Amino acid sequence: MDRLQWVIVVHGGAKTIAPDKAVAHRSGCARAVEAGAEILRRGGSALDAARRAVCVLEDDPTFNAGRGSVRNAAGEIEMDAAIMDGETLAIGAVAAVRHVANPIEAAAALLDTPPILLVGKGAERFARDAGLCPAGPEIVSVAAGDPGHDTVGCVALDRAGHVAAATSTGGLEGTLPGRVGDSPLPGCGFYADDAIGGVSLSGDGEAIGRTLLGARVMRAMEREPADEAVTVIFAPMERLAAEAGVIAIDATGQIGIAHNSDHFALACASSAFPEVVSAIHQNELREEKSNV
Ligand code: ASP
Repeated sequence: MDRLQWVIVVHGGAKTIAPDKAVAHRSGCARAVEAGAEILRRGGSALDAARRAVCVLEDDPTFNAGRGSVRNAAGEIEMDAAIMDGETLAIGAVAAVRHVANPIEAAAALLDTPPILLVGKGAERFARDAGLCPAGPEIVSVAAGDPGHDTVGCVALDRAGHVAAATSTGGLEGTLPGRVGDSPLPGCGFYADDAIGGVSLSGDGEAIGRTLLGARVMRAMEREPADEAVTVIFAPMERLAAEAGVIAIDATGQIGIAHNSDHFALACASSAFPEVVSAIHQNELREEKSNV
């Protein structure tokens, strides 16, 4: 199959979306995809597009990442974020960071350094030294009240055939301080490899970690297109009675989406269907795609 020139897909978390919040989730994902698509249309890199799209989602208090991060049991906000370059397999990830406005920017700044993951105070110091803007008092726990998960993520493929994946989260509400879920762990909440494709996940972080869910989708994409490969998430999640959602793009540019949560906020665009399409369930997106 011919490779699509460029593709981008974002998610706003696998969870239940209250009817009065559906519009905000759709429009937030659409804005993020548009910001990334703009970069890809101009010939920019998948890495820049994924970082930009996740920044837009972190700045949107609708989602549990960046500005909308939920609070842990100590009433504090601790965030995790990761980004991966499918060309070089470079990874930048930060975990349990506070006082960082855009954790994905801190993760991206780590891409060029030997460590793949920094946590806590070390990550905060690194972000400060990288000149990233500290989070102001506008960080508020506005995502509280929505049951479920709403980590954000993006996978993109650029004209040069490079894939990138990025994930960012405020974690789980009321959890133990210092708890880190799947989001900043490669093969769990994200992965990218130009030869295969890329993934970003949301859901029960412990279950995703215990089953290496991202790695399972990547392995399946070595032999199947993305839309078939993503279905490997269902059996392990059923086994652990857990919830998850995944977005994927394979090396040909095909998109795969699967979730066992009630909703999964999504948006995508590509050189084949450049108008941004947004949804709050995978089935909606399938219908849209079959109309283009
Ligand atoms: N997977 C995230 C975590 O466990 C939560 C989420 O997807 O909302 O930290």
